[in-house]
Amino acid sequence: MTHDTFVDLRSDTVTKPTPGMRQAIADAVVGDDVYGEDPTVNALEAYVAELLGHEAGLFCPTGSMTNMLGVRTLVGPGQELLCDALAPVVRAELGGHAVLGQASTRTWHADARRPGRLDAEEALAMAVPDAGPYMVSTAAFAVENTHNFGGGTVQRIEELRALRAGADKMGIAVHLDGARLWNAHVATGVPLAEYGAVADTVSVCLSKGLGAPVGSVLVGSDERIAAARVWRKRYGGGMRQVGILAAACRYALDHQLERLADDHARARRLAAAVAEVRPGLVDTDAVETNIVVLDLAEAGLAAADVAAAARESGVLLSVLGPRRLRLVTHLDVDDDACEHAADVLTKVLS
Ligand SMILES: *Cc1c(COP(=O)(O)O)cnc(C)c1O
Repeated sequence: MTHDTFVDLRSDTVTKPTPGMRQAIADAVVGDDVYGEDPTVNALEAYVAELLGHEAGLFCPTGSMTNMLGVRTLVGPGQELLCDALAPVVRAELGGHAVLGQASTRTWHADARRPGRLDAEEALAMAVPDAGPYMVSTAAFAVENTHNFGGGTVQRIEELRALRAGADKMGIAVHLDGARLWNAHVATGVPLAEYGAVADTVSVCLSKGLGAPVGSVLVGSDERIAAARVWRKRYGGGMRQVGILAAACRYALDHQLERLADDHARARRLAAAVAEVRPGLVDTDAVETNIVVLDLAEAGLAAADVAAAARESGVLLSVLGPRRLRLVTHLDVDDDACEHAADVLTKVLS
């Protein structure tokens, strides 16, 4: 069996370019982007910045890079970035913010009942803006929307605004890790620019549920993006005729954004199927977007065993921990695949 014959629920990063996207890639007008001469890249950067209500954008190969470049424009050497304990910036970027950005980090605990949900008051209470020569000074908060390891949690816009307002009072910046901001937008109807307004820099991924093969964009002020552009090159992220990828990203935004609602419906369908046989494993009301996290602790099941059994029946799941599994719906999981996965999960769990 190749991965193509599986229903692959490990992540929404596994999507393949659609025929329309491949055509857009073939048709892309390109130039040398390190010289600023790739019209397709320039247009994508401007378009994403406009969508998010920021002045400028920077196209990068990965969300790790856009997060690292965003944070490094906000946090100086030895200054502090605050985020929650489940955030990819401290868990999944291999220490890049420390190794390359020289940032110090401290985390607040994500609420155990609704993992990843931002509590602005709690985050603000940790900040020490001007600690002087004795303690580390806080320079920025990083918040994630939607929250990946929390289970696709959508941050409440009021809470994000409260963080922004409190951060402004203290002169602290905000970076938004919006790898799946599109999902939050589609789930809530909150305009992208309203999410954009709560942060100084925003990182968005086109390579997750939107289905582009590669690509993330960092947005911010003209000044910050100009600085980030220098660092991108320094990190080895200056790419040449990369309009072929930017074209895929633009195609994703134009044709594959609204369909995220289908992924959300299928995630709810999978959660409901699990809840029917094992109600304790998942809170179906907590499934807000395209991610379902199963907590196997109560059932006394091992995540690796369940994943192995599902794999035998052609369904791939992601093991997050000894008792935690993640299911992610995306472009390449249609209704038939979703029903098959629901059947397999029902069988494996009962
Ligand atoms: C995927 C992801 C990233 C990093 O993106 P890569 O392109 O894999 O480097 C950052 N933050 C969140 C929330 C993500 O889901």
